[in-house]
Amino acid sequence: MTFTERSGFWIDGAWSTPSDPQRIDVIDASTGVPVATVPQAGQADVDAAVSAARRAFDSTDWATRRPEARAQAILSLADALDKRGEATAQAVSTQNGMPISIASVTEAVVPAMLLRYYAELALNQPIEERRAGLGGGTTVVRREPIGVVAAIVPWNFPQTLTFFKLAPLLAAGNTVVIKPSPETVLDSHLLAEAIADSDIPAGVINIVPGGREAGAYLVAHPHVDKVAFTGSTAAGRAIGEVCGRLIRPVTLELGGKSASIILDDADLPSLLQEFFAATLMNNGQTCYLGTRVLAPRQRYSETVDLLTDFARSLAVGNALDPHTQIGPLATARQQERVQNYIKRGVADGARITTGGGQPADAGSGWFVEPTIFDNVENSHTIAQEEIFGPVLAVIPYTDVDEAIAIANDSDFGLGGSVWTGDQERGLDVARRVRTGSIGVNNYALDFGAPFGGVKASGLGRELGPEGLASYQQIKSMYLPANGTES
Ligand code: NAD
Repeated sequence: MTFTERSGFWIDGAWSTPSDPQRIDVIDASTGVPVATVPQAGQADVDAAVSAARRAFDSTDWATRRPEARAQAILSLADALDKRGEATAQAVSTQNGMPISIASVTEAVVPAMLLRYYAELALNQPIEERRAGLGGGTTVVRREPIGVVAAIVPWNFPQTLTFFKLAPLLAAGNTVVIKPSPETVLDSHLLAEAIADSDIPAGVINIVPGGREAGAYLVAHPHVDKVAFTGSTAAGRAIGEVCGRLIRPVTLELGGKSASIILDDADLPSLLQEFFAATLMNNGQTCYLGTRVLAPRQRYSETVDLLTDFARSLAVGNALDPHTQIGPLATARQQERVQNYIKRGVADGARITTGGGQPADAGSGWFVEPTIFDNVENSHTIAQEEIFGPVLAVIPYTDVDEAIAIANDSDFGLGGSVWTGDQERGLDVARRVRTGSIGVNNYALDFGAPFGGVKASGLGRELGPEGLASYQQIKSMYLPANGTES
């Protein structure tokens, strides 16, 4: 497939000329073949993008216009994105190996859906609320946008995760500089085209693809008011430290190592599609996946056999093939990282029941076979660290208390799931797991409910009304008891 190569960055409503000669080679993850070369942002490009966002926030009516007028511009962007949904899915699948069947129902449609959801939410939210003062008088509590947001996103769901930030921050009246990952730039060019085709004013959304250096420079930029980050825990710690020093609001959506708890009454064979989505979706490159599978001892070998057969049955192949269930990993580095974890699992005493290598006939891209480990202890590295590949570790437990203790024995707390024949029993277990979100007999993210992590999985929440609130500043204006009420 061919992609339009852009020679600049989307800054202040136009394609700018790059300040830096460095370029990024975009590679097809399924074949290892380069498909495009795109400019990489340097510091001067980030400066220009922040200046544009600053000007749009401080000197235009974007932040203060009536909610109806802002909603109209946001809805025009949703319409422009609809026209590019399938092209966006193709670009994402090519670059990061996401099976096209998944990209078509996430990357192609979630951005416009989130814009419409947040436009509506903001329209129905009063900007000011009057409260009777505790000591008399009246207080006007007012919601205002925060200002210029730096949005830094990873490559695994590049557009969906961009819009976890972009949709609520626009609805609240902020402006933004988005820094996409170098692995997934082409889809951000399609986003820029959609912005150009919409009524979003110049400077409100600016896009500077680049690496860690550009990201770090943006995070610490003096004219940024808030940072919204999705990515690894290591990068999140570095960003959190900088924001702490600057007293700059920050949202951190980080890594995970969630538990899938199979209870003794679960009918797992009838739930394998849901289980796949909760544990292996997007080739294992999804932050909330329950890659630690906890199985009751009396059903341990039965569970391992079931998962082994299931992993063997998955169609591994080119991400653009609609039948593919497991595509390649996003980069050669990611493939090597996952292979090293598999070696580490074996060295620690776990046993591979299927997979562990590269599939013979999948192609020359960065593939790793779906891999199941048994004989895993929760202290093993493959049970404690995020692998970000199609690798599941099956851990036995004796009773429900032990299952919950194992689930909670983790530095992370992002997702998870409970599998059972009794939904209420599942909810009881779910209540006891220390995590930001958890499913019963599925894990299907609800965009209308808050999403985020506890412990090393992050700070703050995205999505739902809570996601809108995280882009609003609250101001209290006190009126005296003897003042004139209008
Ligand atoms: P990463 O942390 O290496 O990079 C993420 C983004 O941050 C990229 O744009 C990168 O260029 C930038 N970056 C890296 N270091 C930075 C720094 N010091 N300052 C500013 N920017 C910096 O992560 P990745 O490998 O691209 O993505 C995979 C990770 O993301 C996994 O750990 C995964 O769990 C996590 N993730 C979390 C969520 C969530 O919602 N919690 C969702 C998806 C992915």
